[in-house]
Amino acid sequence: MKYAFISDIHGNLEALNQALRLIDVLACDKIICLGDIVGYGPFPNECIEKTRQSVDQIVIGNHDSAAIMKTATTYFNEYAKEAIDWTRKELSAECEAYLESLDLEYLENQFRALHATPNDPEKWNYILTFPDAYKNFGCFSEKICFIGHSHVPAVFKYGSNPSRVLVENGPDVQLSDDYRYIINVGSVGQPRDGDPRASIGVYDDKYESFQLFRVEYDVAATQSAMHKKGLPDFLIQRLEFGK
Ligand code: ZN
Repeated sequence: MKYAFISDIHGNLEALNQALRLIDVLACDKIICLGDIVGYGPFPNECIEKTRQSVDQIVIGNHDSAAIMKTATTYFNEYAKEAIDWTRKELSAECEAYLESLDLEYLENQFRALHATPNDPEKWNYILTFPDAYKNFGCFSEKICFIGHSHVPAVFKYGSNPSRVLVENGPDVQLSDDYRYIINVGSVGQPRDGDPRASIGVYDDKYESFQLFRVEYDVAATQSAMHKKGLPDFLIQRLEFGK
């Protein structure tokens, strides 16, 4: 089975459409969304609708949760908070109800899927370094845990000789039975690893492989929509740098 993972769409419909087009070309059997459909970007309702129609499984992210007042924005930076306040006003009742219905985790035999961390996922902590990952390997029993949240793709592996491997653009990572993995699939709608292209993770359980794909989208179109809707300049500009 070939699984496509998308995460952190953040209301960026242009990026989402390109990501889904690529997933279609790659002929994936199942699409799993790791949360944060909304926040930052100009099309929260449209992204919820499109995601809802396209994915097989989905979990909730911290921005989704904040948009429906389940998570406080106290720890959000000023731009994230401003964008969430705007998103709350934009969301239709139907989209709010959909976000309300989402679970924190999704499980299959070989893997677990969630937005932030296997340890207390609703605390929305980050896994950025190997020590962060190390603390979390004891908190799930499956071979792989797929995450998003930091917007930076990474593969952390844990075995007899723990090591950290950062995923560069488009490498094929061969998974081994000697390790367990925490895999961050990056962000569709607001990448922060210096590459502005939308990020998609593909896991094939037949070949035990993980591949990261990047796809270009019309950044200027998203920026102009954000400008029209009065979203913060900082959020508009960062998209073209992928930072
Ligand atoms: Zn996010």
